[in-house]
This record gives sequence, structure tokens and C-alpha cells, in this order.
Amino acid sequence: MSADIVFIGLGNMGLPMAQNLVKAGYAVSGHDLVKASVDKLVESGGVTEADAMAAVTKAKVVITMLPASKHVESIYLGDKGILANIRPGTLLIDCSTIAPESARKVAAAALEKGYTMLDAPVSGGTGGATAGTLTFMVGGTDDGFALARPYLEKMGKAIYHAGASGSGQTVKVCNNMLLGILMIGTSEAIRLGIANGMDPKVLSEVMSKSSGRNWTLEVYNPCPGVMENAPASKGYAGGFGVDLMLKDLGLAVENALATGSSVPMGALARNLYDIHSKSGSGGLDFSSVFNMLAKAK
Ligand code: NAD
Repeated sequence: MSADIVFIGLGNMGLPMAQNLVKAGYAVSGHDLVKASVDKLVESGGVTEADAMAAVTKAKVVITMLPASKHVESIYLGDKGILANIRPGTLLIDCSTIAPESARKVAAAALEKGYTMLDAPVSGGTGGATAGTLTFMVGGTDDGFALARPYLEKMGKAIYHAGASGSGQTVKVCNNMLLGILMIGTSEAIRLGIANGMDPKVLSEVMSKSSGRNWTLEVYNPCPGVMENAPASKGYAGGFGVDLMLKDLGLAVENALATGSSVPMGALARNLYDIHSKSGSGGLDFSSVFNMLAKAK
């Protein structure tokens, strides 16, 4: 069956993003290594095919939402990859968070074959993906951006053209380095308040209206029970994994080395998430870093 859009990578983010494209009326063929995720998309009105590469031959648009650079490079490049299978005129949009140089490499390979490819990483978490309110930061040509915009608008509410190929990923790396640092800082502040007998809800409410306010405090509070819908109140399940944050901070530190930039807080944050991951928390939401700061009982 032919679909307008082939969506590859139906994880915590990709599934709700693909579901929003279905809701907007597009025929979406969804693909993932995990069958249960594909089944969920089909239950929501999407379709699938046994072979993702057979599906991409008929697509107008291919969207990928994969974990890291190596997954993106391996699915686009090579004899059996997307670039070897699509028809002329197919638009390629990668929404994964990957290294800017990796995004440029894949987009250059696409351009060499005459295809338009954009890096379009997102911010807003699984809540934003479900609500269709993600922020997209897009790297690529003006024409490519104009072609992608109608699709991105069905999944997000703020769509920015950051600049040339790879620019979307550069903005994303900067943003997530800041996010990783803020989550640790917010966790420290709440732990300090609790150690002084404060109710974390009251503390968070007041800090949200004070100069310490930030997204992790206001939308994604790391302390269980403060926000009903935050991963912290659901056993740190779902959300944005510690290992994905660790990957993003690794991208930031690598990029800092390559560009001669100083990122002392980013490097410290990377090391803290690394220790947290190695203690067995890699699959939990990144706000579980709050647990690392618990007082010994
Ligand atoms: P996830 O691990 O939940 O999902 C990734 C999915 O890709 C998995 O379901 C996996 O099975 C699938 N996959 C991997 N290789 C595949 C292949 N070859 N073919 C088909 N499917 C394949 O990750 P996520 O949380 O959805 O994040 C996806 C990307 O978005 C990451 O780059 C992440 O850094 C970024 N991101 C995540 C969040 C968040 O809050 N979770 C927010 C912004 C950006």
C-alpha cells in the first residue's frame, strides 16, 4: 500500500508524532524494530509494511526519529539504505538528535543524489509530541524548509529555520546541554529545600515565580508527586531517557572539543549522567537524576 509519509522510529517521541500526522489526514506508514509500537500506530489509523525499504520506494516524504547518529547514518546510507531506495522528489526529514557533522554528512549524500534533506530535531518532550506542540529547529535550504513546514506544523507549534544543513542539530545540542545542566540544578535546589523541611510543591511553586524559574521546574518537575503528569510521578518511566541525555551531552562535549569552546558545566553534567546511567538508571527518564542526590538513609 502506498503512503504519503513513511515514518521510521516509533519510540517515545516518534509514535505520538506519527499519530498526529495520521490525525491530520495523511496516510502514514510506520516502521520500528519493536512490533508493539508499530501495532499502536496501526490501531491509530496508520499502516505498515513488512519491509520499511519497500515502503520508502513509494513515499512522498520520509521522516526518521531514531536514537543516535549511528542509527541515522546506517538507515540512510549504503546499498540497502533509504537513499538507495526512494523515488525522485522524495523529501527527507530527520527529526532525531544527532551530531551536526553526521547530519551534514547524510544531507550531503542525499543532495549528491538530488534529494532534499533537512535536519529537524525537536524540543518539548513526550508531552509536546503527544499534544503536537513541539518546537522544531530546522537545518537546510530555504526551499527545503518551505516544503517541510506543512508536515512539521502538524507535529509542532514553533517551527524555526536555524540555518544551513546541520544548524538544527547545533541549536539542539546547545539547548540540551543547557537542559541537562538545569535538571541537575533544579534537583539540587529541591533536595536542599526538602532537607530543610520544605514541601517540594510549595518550594517549586515559589521558585517557578522567582528568578530560578526554568522548564524543568515548571513543566517537568523531577520530584515525585509535585506534578501528576511528569515522569517523576510515574516511576520515571517513559519521557526522555538518561542514556539519550548522556548521548546529547556527549555531542556537546565533542563539539566543544572540535570548536575549542569551554563547557565546564556541560562536561560535569555529562559525567553525572554517566555515573547515574552506570548505576543502572540508563533507561529511566533523565529527571531521575534527582535520585542521585538523595540523602543517605
Ligand atoms: P526511543 O528510544 O524511545 O525511540 C527510538 C526508536 O527507534 C525505538 O523504538 C527503536 O526501536 C527505533 N529504532 C532504532 N533503530 C531502528 C531501525 N533501524 N529501524 C526502525 N526503528 C528503529 O527514543 P525517543 O525518546 O523517541 O527519542 C528519539 C530521538 O529524539 C532521539 O535522538 C532523542 O535524543 C530525541 N529526543 C527525545 C526526546 C524525549 O523527550 N524522549 C525529546 C527531544 C528529542
